[in-house]
Amino acid sequence: MNELTAEQKIRLAITGHPNKEPEFQHEGPMITRWITTGPEPTAYVRFQHQGNQIIAHCPLCGEELGQFNANYDGNTNREVRKIRSNGIKHQKQHENE
Ligand SMILES: [Zn+2]
Repeated sequence: MNELTAEQKIRLAITGHPNKEPEFQHEGPMITRWITTGPEPTAYVRFQHQGNQIIAHCPLCGEELGQFNANYDGNTNREVRKIRSNGIKHQKQHENE
């Protein structure tokens, strides 16, 4: 694959396609997404568009795992990584329930 921009990497991680716009409004908050890019374990989240932010929730219990700017501005890539690592840690707890 060609070198992707930071924004394309984010889109790839959350939509499975580097140029696809995540259609949160149309799909609603009940769609579970898997963040799978790269060697780290998969985290699964539900996204909710709220104002200028996209908020990630745990699909199992609804706990917020993080949020990022809906325009992909600023530190979105870092925020998505944080959501993912929060999700991995958080969902390990569900596995032990
Ligand atoms: Zn949870």
